[in-house]
Amino acid sequence: MNSRTAPNEAATTARLRETALSQVPVGLFINGEWRNASDGRTIAVEDPATGRTLTDVASAAIGDGAAALDAAVAAQTEWAATPPRRRGEILRAAFELLTERSDYFAMLMTLEMGKPLAQAKGEVIYGAEFFRWFSEEAVRIDGRWSTAPDGKTRLLTMRQPVGPTLMITPWNFPLAMGTRKIGPAIAAGCTMVVKPASQTPLTMLALADLLTEVGVPAGVVNVIPTGTSGQVMTPLITDPRLRKLTFTGSTPVGKALVKESADQLLRVSMELGGNAPFLVFDDADLDAAVDGAMLAKMRNMGEACTAANRFLVHESVADEFGRRLTARMEAEVVGPGTHEGVTVGPLIDAKQQNKVTDLVNDATSRGADVLTGGQPGNGPGYFFTPTVLANVPQEANVFREEIFGPVAPITTFSDDDKAVQLANDTEYGLVAYVFTAGLERTIRVAESLEFGMVGINQGIVSNPAAPFGGVKQSGFGREGGPEGINEYVETKYVGINLPSSS
Ligand code: NAP
Repeated sequence: MNSRTAPNEAATTARLRETALSQVPVGLFINGEWRNASDGRTIAVEDPATGRTLTDVASAAIGDGAAALDAAVAAQTEWAATPPRRRGEILRAAFELLTERSDYFAMLMTLEMGKPLAQAKGEVIYGAEFFRWFSEEAVRIDGRWSTAPDGKTRLLTMRQPVGPTLMITPWNFPLAMGTRKIGPAIAAGCTMVVKPASQTPLTMLALADLLTEVGVPAGVVNVIPTGTSGQVMTPLITDPRLRKLTFTGSTPVGKALVKESADQLLRVSMELGGNAPFLVFDDADLDAAVDGAMLAKMRNMGEACTAANRFLVHESVADEFGRRLTARMEAEVVGPGTHEGVTVGPLIDAKQQNKVTDLVNDATSRGADVLTGGQPGNGPGYFFTPTVLANVPQEANVFREEIFGPVAPITTFSDDDKAVQLANDTEYGLVAYVFTAGLERTIRVAESLEFGMVGINQGIVSNPAAPFGGVKQSGFGREGGPEGINEYVETKYVGINLPSSS
Protein backbone atom coordinates (compact mmCIF):
# COMPACT_ATOMS: atom_id res chain seq x y z
CA MET A 1 0.00 0.00 0.00
CA ASN A 2 1.61 3.24 -1.07
CA SER A 3 -0.91 6.06 -0.96
CA ARG A 4 -0.18 9.54 0.30
CA THR A 5 -2.36 12.60 0.84
CA ALA A 6 -1.32 16.26 1.07
CA PRO A 7 -2.49 18.01 4.31
CA ASN A 8 -4.89 20.43 2.52
CA GLU A 9 -6.37 17.68 0.43
CA ALA A 10 -6.83 15.55 3.55
CA ALA A 11 -8.68 18.35 5.36
CA THR A 12 -11.05 18.93 2.43
CA THR A 13 -11.73 15.22 2.09
CA ALA A 14 -12.34 14.89 5.83
CA ARG A 15 -14.86 17.77 5.70
CA LEU A 16 -16.66 16.27 2.70
CA ARG A 17 -16.73 12.90 4.45
CA GLU A 18 -18.30 14.31 7.62
CA THR A 19 -20.82 16.37 5.63
CA ALA A 20 -21.82 13.37 3.52
CA LEU A 21 -22.30 11.15 6.58
CA SER A 22 -24.27 13.81 8.45
CA GLN A 23 -26.56 14.53 5.46
CA VAL A 24 -27.37 11.04 4.26
CA PRO A 25 -30.77 9.75 5.42
CA VAL A 26 -30.62 6.48 7.36
CA GLY A 27 -34.30 5.46 7.55
CA LEU A 28 -36.56 3.46 5.29
CA PHE A 29 -38.20 5.52 2.55
CA ILE A 30 -41.82 4.43 2.21
CA ASN A 31 -44.68 6.39 0.65
CA GLY A 32 -42.67 9.60 0.60
CA GLU A 33 -41.74 9.43 4.31
CA TRP A 34 -38.67 8.45 6.26
CA ARG A 35 -39.29 5.97 9.03
CA ASN A 36 -37.50 3.57 11.34
CA ALA A 37 -37.83 -0.18 10.89
CA SER A 38 -41.02 -1.45 12.58
CA ASP A 39 -38.93 -3.72 14.82
CA GLY A 40 -36.29 -1.03 15.41
CA ARG A 41 -33.48 -3.05 13.81
CA THR A 42 -30.54 -1.49 11.99
CA ILE A 43 -27.67 -2.53 9.72
CA ALA A 44 -24.13 -1.34 10.45
CA VAL A 45 -22.59 0.07 7.24
CA GLU A 46 -18.86 -0.61 7.17
CA ASP A 47 -15.98 1.26 5.52
CA PRO A 48 -14.01 -1.47 3.69
CA ALA A 49 -10.85 0.67 3.84
CA THR A 50 -10.79 0.50 7.65
CA GLY A 51 -13.27 -2.18 8.69
CA ARG A 52 -14.93 0.43 10.91
CA THR A 53 -18.65 1.24 11.05
CA LEU A 54 -19.61 4.42 9.20
CA THR A 55 -23.21 4.65 10.36
CA ASP A 56 -26.28 2.53 11.09
CA VAL A 57 -29.21 2.30 8.71
CA ALA A 58 -32.77 1.07 9.37
CA SER A 59 -33.23 -2.57 8.37
CA ALA A 60 -36.68 -3.30 6.91
CA ALA A 61 -38.73 -6.07 8.55
CA ILE A 62 -41.36 -8.14 6.69
CA GLY A 63 -44.10 -5.61 7.55
CA ASP A 64 -42.01 -2.74 6.19
CA GLY A 65 -41.59 -4.59 2.89
CA ALA A 66 -45.38 -5.00 2.74
CA ALA A 67 -45.88 -1.29 3.49
CA ALA A 68 -43.50 -0.36 0.66
CA LEU A 69 -45.40 -2.55 -1.80
CA ASP A 70 -48.74 -1.14 -0.55
CA ALA A 71 -47.42 2.35 -1.32
CA ALA A 72 -46.19 1.36 -4.79
CA VAL A 73 -49.51 -0.34 -5.62
CA ALA A 74 -51.53 2.66 -4.39
CA ALA A 75 -49.49 5.10 -6.49
CA GLN A 76 -49.47 3.03 -9.70
CA THR A 77 -52.68 4.20 -11.45
CA GLU A 78 -52.06 7.90 -11.01
CA TRP A 79 -48.39 7.60 -11.91
CA ALA A 80 -49.18 5.68 -15.11
CA ALA A 81 -51.60 8.48 -16.05
CA THR A 82 -49.02 11.22 -15.45
CA PRO A 83 -48.10 12.78 -18.82
CA PRO A 84 -44.93 11.27 -20.30
CA ARG A 85 -43.52 14.77 -20.74
CA ARG A 86 -43.85 15.34 -16.98
CA ARG A 87 -42.15 12.03 -16.18
CA GLY A 88 -39.39 12.95 -18.64
CA GLU A 89 -38.93 16.36 -17.04
CA ILE A 90 -38.61 14.81 -13.59
CA LEU A 91 -35.89 12.51 -14.93
CA ARG A 92 -34.10 15.41 -16.59
CA ALA A 93 -34.17 17.35 -13.31
CA ALA A 94 -32.82 14.26 -11.52
CA PHE A 95 -29.97 14.06 -14.04
CA GLU A 96 -29.08 17.69 -13.45
CA LEU A 97 -29.24 17.56 -9.66
CA LEU A 98 -27.27 14.32 -9.49
CA THR A 99 -24.58 15.83 -11.67
CA GLU A 100 -24.52 18.96 -9.49
CA ARG A 101 -24.16 16.84 -6.35
CA SER A 102 -21.60 14.43 -7.79
CA ASP A 103 -19.08 15.10 -4.98
CA TYR A 104 -21.59 14.11 -2.31
CA PHE A 105 -22.70 10.92 -4.08
CA ALA A 106 -19.12 9.99 -4.98
CA MET A 107 -18.04 10.37 -1.37
CA LEU A 108 -20.88 8.16 -0.12
CA MET A 109 -19.97 5.46 -2.63
CA THR A 110 -16.28 5.57 -1.81
CA LEU A 111 -17.02 5.34 1.89
CA GLU A 112 -19.41 2.42 1.75
CA MET A 113 -17.95 0.51 -1.20
CA GLY A 114 -14.27 1.43 -1.34
CA LYS A 115 -13.66 2.54 -4.93
CA PRO A 116 -11.35 5.54 -5.41
CA LEU A 117 -13.14 8.91 -5.46
CA ALA A 118 -12.33 9.55 -9.14
CA GLN A 119 -13.98 6.25 -10.10
CA ALA A 120 -16.93 6.96 -7.82
CA LYS A 121 -17.36 10.28 -9.60
CA GLY A 122 -17.24 8.41 -12.90
CA GLU A 123 -20.05 6.20 -11.65
CA VAL A 124 -22.14 9.26 -10.72
CA ILE A 125 -21.73 10.62 -14.27
CA TYR A 126 -22.53 7.20 -15.77
CA GLY A 127 -25.46 6.62 -13.39
CA ALA A 128 -26.92 10.09 -14.02
CA GLU A 129 -26.77 9.50 -17.77
CA PHE A 130 -29.48 6.85 -17.42
CA PHE A 131 -31.79 9.57 -16.13
CA ARG A 132 -30.93 11.81 -19.07
CA TRP A 133 -31.29 9.01 -21.61
CA PHE A 134 -34.65 7.84 -20.27
CA SER A 135 -35.90 11.43 -19.88
CA GLU A 136 -35.62 11.50 -23.66
CA GLU A 137 -37.20 8.05 -24.11
CA ALA A 138 -40.22 8.79 -21.87
CA VAL A 139 -42.00 10.64 -24.69
CA ARG A 140 -41.20 8.03 -27.35
CA ILE A 141 -43.09 5.01 -26.01
CA ASP A 142 -45.16 4.34 -29.08
CA GLY A 143 -47.47 1.68 -30.53
CA ARG A 144 -48.55 0.46 -33.94
CA TRP A 145 -51.57 0.73 -36.17
CA SER A 146 -52.16 -1.59 -39.10
CA THR A 147 -54.77 -3.30 -41.22
CA ALA A 148 -55.13 -7.07 -40.87
CA PRO A 149 -54.29 -9.05 -44.03
CA ASP A 150 -57.99 -9.84 -44.64
CA GLY A 151 -58.76 -6.10 -44.62
CA LYS A 152 -61.58 -6.47 -42.10
CA THR A 153 -59.88 -5.67 -38.82
CA ARG A 154 -57.71 -2.83 -37.65
CA LEU A 155 -54.86 -3.82 -35.36
CA LEU A 156 -53.84 -1.36 -32.65
CA THR A 157 -50.92 -2.14 -30.34
CA MET A 158 -50.10 -0.01 -27.34
CA ARG A 159 -47.33 -0.25 -24.76
CA GLN A 160 -48.42 0.22 -21.17
CA PRO A 161 -46.46 0.24 -17.89
CA VAL A 162 -45.97 -3.25 -16.52
CA GLY A 163 -46.86 -2.04 -13.01
CA PRO A 164 -45.32 -2.18 -9.53
CA THR A 165 -41.75 -3.43 -9.81
CA LEU A 166 -39.29 -4.84 -7.28
CA MET A 167 -35.65 -3.86 -7.90
CA ILE A 168 -32.84 -5.67 -6.11
CA THR A 169 -29.34 -4.26 -6.65
CA PRO A 170 -25.76 -5.28 -5.75
CA TRP A 171 -23.02 -3.49 -3.81
CA ASN A 172 -20.44 -3.05 -6.57
CA PHE A 173 -22.11 -0.11 -8.38
CA PRO A 174 -24.39 1.28 -5.65
CA LEU A 175 -25.74 4.10 -7.82
CA ALA A 176 -25.65 3.03 -11.47
CA MET A 177 -27.20 -0.41 -10.95
CA GLY A 178 -30.14 1.48 -9.42
CA THR A 179 -30.49 4.32 -11.96
CA ARG A 180 -30.32 1.81 -14.84
CA LYS A 181 -33.60 0.37 -13.49
CA ILE A 182 -35.23 3.44 -11.91
CA GLY A 183 -34.75 5.60 -15.04
CA PRO A 184 -36.70 3.40 -17.48
CA ALA A 185 -39.30 2.49 -14.82
CA ILE A 186 -40.06 6.18 -14.20
CA ALA A 187 -40.11 6.85 -17.95
CA ALA A 188 -42.55 3.98 -18.54
CA GLY A 189 -44.84 4.93 -15.64
CA CYS A 190 -44.08 2.09 -13.20
CA THR A 191 -43.92 2.48 -9.43
CA MET A 192 -41.22 0.61 -7.54
CA VAL A 193 -39.73 -0.85 -4.38
CA VAL A 194 -35.93 -0.69 -4.41
CA LYS A 195 -33.81 -2.94 -2.20
CA PRO A 196 -30.15 -1.94 -2.29
CA ALA A 197 -27.40 -4.28 -1.08
CA SER A 198 -27.10 -4.30 2.70
CA GLN A 199 -23.39 -3.43 2.44
CA THR A 200 -24.04 -0.24 0.42
CA PRO A 201 -27.45 1.27 1.22
CA LEU A 202 -26.34 4.89 1.71
CA THR A 203 -26.12 5.91 -1.95
CA MET A 204 -29.64 4.66 -2.73
CA LEU A 205 -31.09 6.38 0.35
CA ALA A 206 -29.48 9.65 -0.76
CA LEU A 207 -30.96 9.08 -4.22
CA ALA A 208 -34.47 8.65 -2.75
CA ASP A 209 -34.06 12.09 -1.17
CA LEU A 210 -32.94 13.60 -4.47
CA LEU A 211 -35.82 12.04 -6.43
CA THR A 212 -38.30 13.52 -3.96
CA GLU A 213 -36.67 16.92 -4.37
CA VAL A 214 -37.13 16.84 -8.16
CA GLY A 215 -40.83 15.94 -7.88
CA VAL A 216 -41.22 12.14 -7.84
CA PRO A 217 -44.57 11.73 -6.04
CA ALA A 218 -44.94 9.78 -2.78
CA GLY A 219 -45.19 6.03 -3.28
CA VAL A 220 -43.59 5.96 -6.73
CA VAL A 221 -40.07 5.15 -5.46
CA ASN A 222 -39.75 3.33 -2.12
CA VAL A 223 -36.33 2.31 -0.80
CA ILE A 224 -35.95 -0.40 1.83
CA PRO A 225 -32.51 -1.65 2.85
CA THR A 226 -32.72 -4.81 4.92
CA GLY A 227 -30.34 -7.11 6.72
CA THR A 228 -32.71 -10.03 6.12
CA SER A 229 -33.10 -9.95 2.34
CA GLY A 230 -34.56 -13.41 1.83
CA GLN A 231 -37.20 -13.05 4.55
CA VAL A 232 -38.32 -9.61 3.44
CA MET A 233 -38.18 -10.15 -0.33
CA THR A 234 -39.95 -13.52 -0.61
CA PRO A 235 -43.39 -12.22 0.46
CA LEU A 236 -43.06 -9.41 -2.09
CA ILE A 237 -41.98 -11.72 -4.90
CA THR A 238 -44.94 -14.00 -4.22
CA ASP A 239 -47.46 -11.13 -3.81
CA PRO A 240 -49.83 -11.11 -6.82
CA ARG A 241 -49.87 -7.29 -6.81
CA LEU A 242 -46.20 -7.23 -7.80
CA ARG A 243 -45.86 -7.30 -11.60
CA LYS A 244 -42.13 -7.39 -12.17
CA LEU A 245 -38.83 -8.32 -10.57
CA THR A 246 -35.58 -6.88 -11.86
CA PHE A 247 -32.41 -8.17 -10.25
CA THR A 248 -28.72 -7.41 -10.61
CA GLY A 249 -26.41 -9.64 -8.64
CA SER A 250 -24.84 -13.06 -8.52
CA THR A 251 -26.00 -15.98 -10.65
CA PRO A 252 -26.85 -18.29 -7.68
CA VAL A 253 -29.11 -15.67 -6.04
CA GLY A 254 -30.62 -14.81 -9.44
CA LYS A 255 -31.52 -18.46 -10.04
CA ALA A 256 -33.15 -18.73 -6.61
CA LEU A 257 -35.21 -15.58 -7.30
CA VAL A 258 -36.33 -16.87 -10.72
CA LYS A 259 -37.57 -20.03 -8.97
CA GLU A 260 -39.42 -17.97 -6.35
CA SER A 261 -41.01 -15.79 -9.01
CA ALA A 262 -42.18 -18.77 -11.09
CA ASP A 263 -45.27 -19.38 -8.95
CA GLN A 264 -46.97 -16.29 -10.25
CA LEU A 265 -45.07 -16.17 -13.56
CA LEU A 266 -43.69 -12.77 -12.66
CA ARG A 267 -41.99 -10.84 -15.42
CA VAL A 268 -38.29 -11.05 -14.60
CA SER A 269 -35.07 -9.36 -15.75
CA MET A 270 -31.77 -10.84 -14.58
CA GLU A 271 -28.39 -9.09 -14.82
CA LEU A 272 -26.07 -11.72 -13.37
CA GLY A 273 -22.43 -12.68 -13.10
CA GLY A 274 -19.80 -12.72 -15.84
CA ASN A 275 -16.51 -14.34 -16.77
CA ALA A 276 -15.29 -12.02 -19.51
CA PRO A 277 -12.56 -13.20 -21.90
CA PHE A 278 -10.15 -10.55 -23.14
CA LEU A 279 -8.66 -11.65 -26.47
CA VAL A 280 -5.46 -10.16 -27.83
CA PHE A 281 -4.60 -11.25 -31.38
CA ASP A 282 -1.15 -11.08 -32.96
CA ASP A 283 -2.12 -8.07 -35.11
CA ALA A 284 -3.39 -6.02 -32.13
CA ASP A 285 -1.98 -2.63 -31.20
CA LEU A 286 -0.36 -3.72 -27.93
CA ASP A 287 -0.40 -0.26 -26.37
CA ALA A 288 -4.14 -0.03 -26.94
CA ALA A 289 -4.59 -3.60 -25.68
CA VAL A 290 -2.76 -2.84 -22.44
CA ASP A 291 -4.75 0.40 -21.96
CA GLY A 292 -7.93 -1.59 -22.57
CA ALA A 293 -6.78 -4.35 -20.22
CA MET A 294 -6.22 -1.87 -17.39
CA LEU A 295 -9.72 -0.46 -17.84
CA ALA A 296 -11.41 -3.82 -18.24
CA LYS A 297 -9.54 -5.34 -15.30
CA MET A 298 -8.96 -2.55 -12.81
CA ARG A 299 -12.16 -0.48 -12.91
CA ASN A 300 -13.79 -1.02 -9.52
CA MET A 301 -10.72 -3.03 -8.35
CA GLY A 302 -11.92 -5.82 -10.63
CA GLU A 303 -15.24 -6.00 -8.77
CA ALA A 304 -17.39 -5.64 -11.88
CA CYS A 305 -19.55 -8.14 -13.74
CA THR A 306 -17.86 -6.81 -16.88
CA ALA A 307 -14.32 -7.23 -15.47
CA ALA A 308 -11.88 -9.04 -17.77
CA ASN A 309 -11.54 -12.39 -16.02
CA ARG A 310 -9.40 -14.34 -18.52
CA PHE A 311 -6.70 -12.82 -20.72
CA LEU A 312 -6.35 -14.97 -23.84
CA VAL A 313 -3.29 -13.76 -25.73
CA HIS A 314 -1.73 -14.99 -28.97
CA GLU A 315 1.47 -16.90 -28.14
CA SER A 316 3.63 -14.59 -30.30
CA VAL A 317 2.76 -11.47 -28.24
CA ALA A 318 1.98 -12.98 -24.82
CA ASP A 319 5.39 -12.28 -23.21
CA GLU A 320 5.42 -8.66 -24.35
CA PHE A 321 1.78 -8.16 -23.31
CA GLY A 322 2.55 -9.69 -19.90
CA ARG A 323 5.59 -7.42 -19.43
CA ARG A 324 3.70 -4.25 -20.30
CA LEU A 325 0.68 -5.19 -18.20
CA THR A 326 2.95 -5.96 -15.24
CA ALA A 327 4.61 -2.53 -15.50
CA ARG A 328 1.21 -0.84 -15.49
CA MET A 329 -0.06 -2.90 -12.56
CA GLU A 330 3.06 -2.04 -10.56
CA ALA A 331 2.40 1.67 -11.13
CA GLU A 332 -1.05 1.47 -9.52
CA VAL A 333 -1.47 3.14 -6.14
CA VAL A 334 -3.28 1.00 -3.55
CA GLY A 335 -4.98 2.64 -0.58
CA PRO A 336 -8.20 4.05 0.85
CA GLY A 337 -10.37 5.42 -1.95
CA THR A 338 -10.63 8.80 -0.22
CA HIS A 339 -6.86 9.40 -0.49
CA GLU A 340 -5.52 11.61 -3.25
CA GLY A 341 -3.84 9.64 -6.05
CA VAL A 342 -5.17 6.23 -5.05
CA THR A 343 -6.20 4.13 -8.05
CA VAL A 344 -6.97 0.81 -6.34
CA GLY A 345 -9.19 0.78 -3.27
CA PRO A 346 -10.01 -2.10 -0.90
CA LEU A 347 -12.17 -5.09 -1.79
CA ILE A 348 -15.64 -5.10 -0.28
CA ASP A 349 -14.96 -7.42 2.67
CA ALA A 350 -12.71 -10.07 4.19
CA LYS A 351 -14.66 -12.86 2.47
CA GLN A 352 -13.90 -11.38 -0.95
CA GLN A 353 -10.26 -10.80 -0.01
CA ASN A 354 -9.94 -14.46 1.05
CA LYS A 355 -11.66 -15.65 -2.12
CA VAL A 356 -9.19 -13.76 -4.33
CA THR A 357 -6.26 -15.09 -2.29
CA ASP A 358 -7.55 -18.66 -2.70
CA LEU A 359 -7.96 -18.23 -6.47
CA VAL A 360 -4.37 -17.00 -6.82
CA ASN A 361 -3.04 -19.84 -4.64
CA ASP A 362 -4.99 -22.40 -6.64
CA ALA A 363 -3.56 -21.04 -9.93
CA THR A 364 0.04 -21.07 -8.66
CA SER A 365 -0.36 -24.58 -7.24
CA ARG A 366 -1.32 -25.66 -10.77
CA GLY A 367 1.78 -24.08 -12.31
CA ALA A 368 0.91 -20.44 -12.99
CA ASP A 369 3.74 -17.88 -12.65
CA VAL A 370 3.25 -14.71 -10.60
CA LEU A 371 4.58 -11.78 -12.67
CA THR A 372 3.62 -9.28 -9.97
CA GLY A 373 1.52 -9.11 -6.79
CA GLY A 374 -0.23 -12.26 -5.64
CA GLN A 375 -0.81 -11.22 -2.04
CA PRO A 376 -3.46 -9.48 0.03
CA GLY A 377 -2.43 -6.00 1.16
CA ASN A 378 -1.73 -5.06 4.75
CA GLY A 379 -4.71 -4.33 7.00
CA PRO A 380 -6.74 -2.67 8.26
CA GLY A 381 -9.09 -2.85 5.30
CA TYR A 382 -9.44 -5.51 2.64
CA PHE A 383 -6.75 -4.63 0.12
CA PHE A 384 -5.27 -6.86 -2.55
CA THR A 385 -2.09 -6.15 -4.50
CA PRO A 386 -2.57 -5.77 -8.29
CA THR A 387 -1.57 -9.12 -9.72
CA VAL A 388 -0.57 -10.61 -13.08
CA LEU A 389 -0.39 -14.38 -13.50
CA ALA A 390 1.17 -15.97 -16.60
CA ASN A 391 0.93 -19.51 -18.01
CA VAL A 392 -2.34 -20.14 -16.24
CA PRO A 393 -3.69 -23.60 -17.06
CA GLN A 394 -7.27 -23.87 -18.27
CA GLU A 395 -8.22 -26.07 -15.28
CA ALA A 396 -7.38 -23.33 -12.76
CA ASN A 397 -10.40 -22.08 -10.79
CA VAL A 398 -9.51 -18.53 -11.76
CA PHE A 399 -10.68 -19.36 -15.30
CA ARG A 400 -14.01 -20.80 -14.16
CA GLU A 401 -15.06 -18.38 -11.42
CA GLU A 402 -15.65 -14.65 -11.26
CA ILE A 403 -12.50 -13.28 -9.60
CA PHE A 404 -13.92 -9.94 -8.44
CA GLY A 405 -10.45 -8.67 -7.61
CA PRO A 406 -7.39 -7.02 -9.24
CA VAL A 407 -5.94 -10.24 -10.68
CA ALA A 408 -5.13 -10.69 -14.39
CA PRO A 409 -4.56 -14.33 -15.42
CA ILE A 410 -2.95 -14.83 -18.84
CA THR A 411 -3.04 -17.89 -21.02
CA THR A 412 -2.04 -18.26 -24.67
CA PHE A 413 -3.61 -19.48 -27.90
CA SER A 414 -2.14 -20.31 -31.29
CA ASP A 415 -5.02 -19.76 -33.73
CA ASP A 416 -8.36 -17.98 -34.01
CA ASP A 417 -10.52 -21.08 -33.61
CA LYS A 418 -8.78 -21.99 -30.38
CA ALA A 419 -9.15 -18.40 -29.10
CA VAL A 420 -12.90 -18.43 -29.68
CA GLN A 421 -13.24 -21.93 -28.23
CA LEU A 422 -11.39 -20.88 -25.05
CA ALA A 423 -13.44 -17.68 -24.81
CA ASN A 424 -16.77 -19.52 -25.10
CA ASP A 425 -15.72 -22.22 -22.61
CA THR A 426 -17.77 -20.82 -19.73
CA GLU A 427 -21.38 -21.01 -18.56
CA TYR A 428 -21.40 -17.20 -18.44
CA GLY A 429 -22.11 -14.95 -21.42
CA LEU A 430 -22.05 -11.29 -20.42
CA VAL A 431 -19.22 -9.54 -22.26
CA ALA A 432 -16.07 -10.32 -24.27
CA TYR A 433 -13.29 -7.96 -25.32
CA VAL A 434 -11.34 -8.35 -28.58
CA PHE A 435 -8.18 -6.54 -29.66
CA THR A 436 -7.28 -6.92 -33.33
CA ALA A 437 -6.57 -4.69 -36.33
CA GLY A 438 -8.30 -6.97 -38.86
CA LEU A 439 -11.79 -6.13 -40.06
CA GLU A 440 -12.63 -9.63 -41.24
CA ARG A 441 -11.33 -11.15 -38.05
CA THR A 442 -13.30 -8.60 -36.01
CA ILE A 443 -16.55 -9.60 -37.68
CA ARG A 444 -15.89 -13.35 -37.62
CA VAL A 445 -14.85 -13.38 -33.97
CA ALA A 446 -17.65 -11.03 -32.83
CA GLU A 447 -20.18 -13.30 -34.56
CA SER A 448 -18.75 -16.44 -32.95
CA LEU A 449 -18.58 -15.19 -29.37
CA GLU A 450 -21.48 -16.38 -27.19
CA PHE A 451 -21.84 -13.19 -25.20
CA GLY A 452 -24.48 -10.46 -24.94
CA MET A 453 -21.88 -7.72 -25.54
CA VAL A 454 -18.55 -7.52 -27.37
CA GLY A 455 -16.04 -4.67 -27.05
CA ILE A 456 -13.74 -4.27 -30.06
CA ASN A 457 -10.46 -2.50 -29.30
CA GLN A 458 -12.00 -1.00 -26.17
CA GLY A 459 -11.89 -2.03 -22.54
CA ILE A 460 -15.32 -0.75 -21.59
CA VAL A 461 -18.71 -1.41 -23.17
CA SER A 462 -21.10 0.19 -20.66
CA ASN A 463 -23.04 2.99 -22.34
CA PRO A 464 -26.50 4.32 -21.39
CA ALA A 465 -27.47 4.42 -25.07
CA ALA A 466 -26.66 0.72 -25.61
CA PRO A 467 -28.47 -2.47 -24.53
CA PHE A 468 -26.50 -3.93 -21.61
CA GLY A 469 -27.10 -7.57 -20.76
CA GLY A 470 -26.03 -11.16 -21.05
CA VAL A 471 -26.86 -14.60 -22.41
CA LYS A 472 -26.45 -18.10 -20.92
CA GLN A 473 -26.04 -17.93 -17.13
CA SER A 474 -25.36 -14.19 -17.19
CA GLY A 475 -29.12 -13.73 -17.36
CA PHE A 476 -31.69 -12.14 -19.62
CA GLY A 477 -33.16 -8.71 -20.29
CA ARG A 478 -31.43 -5.53 -21.45
CA GLU A 479 -30.77 -2.30 -19.56
CA GLY A 480 -30.13 0.99 -21.36
CA GLY A 481 -30.61 1.95 -24.99
CA PRO A 482 -34.02 2.07 -26.65
CA GLU A 483 -34.36 -1.59 -25.57
CA GLY A 484 -34.23 -0.62 -21.89
CA ILE A 485 -37.80 0.64 -21.86
CA ASN A 486 -39.12 -2.72 -23.12
CA GLU A 487 -38.41 -4.27 -19.73
CA TYR A 488 -41.02 -1.97 -18.13
CA VAL A 489 -43.89 -2.09 -20.63
CA GLU A 490 -46.44 -4.68 -21.71
CA THR A 491 -47.70 -4.76 -25.27
CA LYS A 492 -51.47 -4.73 -25.53
CA TYR A 493 -53.21 -5.48 -28.81
CA VAL A 494 -56.67 -4.15 -29.56
CA GLY A 495 -58.53 -5.62 -32.55
CA ILE A 496 -61.11 -3.28 -34.03
CA ASN A 497 -63.80 -4.81 -36.21
CA LEU A 498 -64.45 -2.62 -39.23
CA PRO A 499 -67.15 -4.21 -41.41
CA SER A 500 -67.05 -3.26 -45.02
CA SER A 501 -69.15 -0.13 -45.74
CA SER A 502 -70.62 -1.52 -48.99
P1 NAP B 1 -25.63 -10.99 -4.50
O1 NAP B 1 -25.05 -11.58 -3.30
O2 NAP B 1 -26.36 -11.87 -5.44
O3 NAP B 1 -26.60 -9.82 -3.98
C1 NAP B 1 -27.28 -8.98 -4.86
C2 NAP B 1 -28.51 -8.44 -4.18
O4 NAP B 1 -29.39 -9.52 -3.88
C3 NAP B 1 -28.24 -7.75 -2.86
O5 NAP B 1 -29.11 -6.66 -2.72
C4 NAP B 1 -28.56 -8.84 -1.86
O6 NAP B 1 -28.93 -8.37 -0.59
C5 NAP B 1 -29.74 -9.48 -2.52
N1 NAP B 1 -30.03 -10.83 -2.05
C6 NAP B 1 -29.17 -11.77 -1.61
N2 NAP B 1 -29.86 -12.88 -1.27
C7 NAP B 1 -31.17 -12.63 -1.50
C8 NAP B 1 -32.37 -13.39 -1.35
N3 NAP B 1 -32.35 -14.63 -0.89
N4 NAP B 1 -33.53 -12.82 -1.67
C9 NAP B 1 -33.57 -11.55 -2.14
N5 NAP B 1 -32.48 -10.79 -2.30
C10 NAP B 1 -31.28 -11.32 -2.00
O7 NAP B 1 -24.57 -10.22 -5.39
P2 NAP B 1 -23.49 -9.16 -4.91
O8 NAP B 1 -22.40 -9.90 -4.25
O9 NAP B 1 -24.14 -8.04 -4.20
O10 NAP B 1 -23.01 -8.57 -6.31
C11 NAP B 1 -22.01 -9.13 -7.06
C12 NAP B 1 -22.60 -9.95 -8.19
O11 NAP B 1 -23.41 -9.11 -9.01
C13 NAP B 1 -21.53 -10.48 -9.12
O12 NAP B 1 -21.82 -11.80 -9.47
C14 NAP B 1 -21.64 -9.57 -10.34
O13 NAP B 1 -21.16 -10.15 -11.52
C15 NAP B 1 -23.09 -9.29 -10.38
N6 NAP B 1 -23.38 -8.07 -11.15
C16 NAP B 1 -23.96 -8.20 -12.37
C17 NAP B 1 -24.19 -7.07 -13.15
C18 NAP B 1 -24.85 -7.18 -14.49
O14 NAP B 1 -25.34 -6.17 -14.98
N7 NAP B 1 -24.87 -8.34 -15.12
C19 NAP B 1 -23.84 -5.82 -12.65
C20 NAP B 1 -23.25 -5.72 -11.40
C21 NAP B 1 -23.02 -6.86 -10.66
P3 NAP B 1 -27.89 -8.42 0.64
O15 NAP B 1 -26.92 -7.36 0.38
O16 NAP B 1 -28.73 -8.17 1.81
O17 NAP B 1 -27.27 -9.78 0.63
